[in-house]
Amino acid sequence: MNFDTVIIGGGLAGLLCGIRLQEQGQRCAIVSRGQSALSFSSGSLDLLSHLPNGEPVNSLDTGIAALQAMQSPHPYALLGAERVRHYALLAQNLLAECGFATQGHVDTPHQRVTPLGTFRQAWLSPTEVPHKPDASKTIGIVGISGFLDFQPALAAASLRKRGVNVSAEEIELPVLDALRDNPSEFRAVNIARVLDKPENFSAPYRALLPLSRRYDILYFPACFGLVNSDVFAQLNQQLSCPLFLLPTLPPSVPGTRMQTLLQQRFVRLGGTWMPGDEVVNADIAGGRVTHVWTRKHEDIPLTPKHVVLASGSFFSNGLIAERTGVREAVFGLDVLQSEGREHWYRDDVFAAQPWQQFGVITDRQLRAQRGGAPIENLYVIGSVLGGFDAVAQGCGGGVCATTALFAADRIGASGESK
Ligand SMILES: Cc1cc2nc3c(=O)[nH]c(=O)nc-3n(C[C@H](O)[C@H](O)[C@H](O)COP(=O)(O)OP(=O)(O)OC[C@H]3O[C@@H](n4cnc5c(N)ncnc54)[C@H](O)[C@@H]3O)c2cc1C
Repeated sequence: MNFDTVIIGGGLAGLLCGIRLQEQGQRCAIVSRGQSALSFSSGSLDLLSHLPNGEPVNSLDTGIAALQAMQSPHPYALLGAERVRHYALLAQNLLAECGFATQGHVDTPHQRVTPLGTFRQAWLSPTEVPHKPDASKTIGIVGISGFLDFQPALAAASLRKRGVNVSAEEIELPVLDALRDNPSEFRAVNIARVLDKPENFSAPYRALLPLSRRYDILYFPACFGLVNSDVFAQLNQQLSCPLFLLPTLPPSVPGTRMQTLLQQRFVRLGGTWMPGDEVVNADIAGGRVTHVWTRKHEDIPLTPKHVVLASGSFFSNGLIAERTGVREAVFGLDVLQSEGREHWYRDDVFAAQPWQQFGVITDRQLRAQRGGAPIENLYVIGSVLGGFDAVAQGCGGGVCATTALFAADRIGASGESK
């Protein structure tokens, strides 16, 4: 099977890259083994909140200049501020074209409210996510009776400590009783499958209406909006005060919506989506990947001009930690890592952990290398890359989006197609 580009991994990075390549008229396939990190994420994307030394970043340009000055291996230092800004703006537009409505901008990070009642800097958030509230407003955080993946009292206590005038509330939703019978089924995504149905709209509306008359703002768990924001928009039209949604414990409704909309866009553009399959091996000859072998296609290889590795970090098994070292799972690429297991961790679990920065080493074009030798047509994007800490530096979504779109443009600019 011949393709211009085969992408290994269909999370945020793989899908954005695939969409951009399809838009450029390429013939792409995405092979993706299982759920991506999006299904477990907040749905908000981070760009760059902190430097490796813990200093907060107030401007993208100065933040990336500082990374370059300290010779950080961070992917942004390879790309440079101008490209990061360009591709971040492109990602914002691309998400909007997919139907994923966001708030936020590259140059104006916002403080989103987290489900734990803290504030966290974000680049883009789904429109339903609340910002740090005005202290003069009264806020009701509303839970659903019996739903354990969102704790309004916990969030309220934490917000109160931060000076917010907030109370915890709970509503009964008998329409969910069938799910309640099995506690493992009573999860946000399953609740959304019920509440997204137009015939069930009156249930949350009737329960929330009296509360919307008592508060200036309501926060509710993100338990609807799996494929669109219709219920959210309708409730906001009909309730007496604005309503916002907080992500719950995974699986995440906004993250699942982002995954679904990106996948739909890729397929609509003519991309070949191969879910539930995995790349198990590849042939490399003359410094190029010539064939890609998957578990389901057994003896029929994929024959691409270019390959993009978007297999994720440890979470998605793109990187594997073994007793003596960390390896990249498909090609055995060169990996940035500390020598000796004792240097992988810090005892303080809240400190930035060295292993978070482990990942594949590339050149400035994001091309991989193995045993120090470059592989000319293999690009590496997203969280399988090394040199950054998505948690401590608040840059996970931004690294995925900007490296994905940069690699797509490098492939497009190479002028090689089948
Ligand atoms: C639990 C979690 C929550 C996060 N939350 C946020 C957040 O809220 N905001 C933020 O900005 N960042 C967040 N991050 C950082 C996150 O890494 C990125 O935002 C991003 O979603 C990662 O995308 P990715 O495409 O690089 O990898 P992934 O999402 O991990 O996707 C990789 C995909 O590749 C597939 N795959 C792996 N190996 C193979 C193979 N051999 N063959 C075929 N397919 C394969 C996997 O099954 C998976 O579907 C989070 C990370 C994690 C782990």
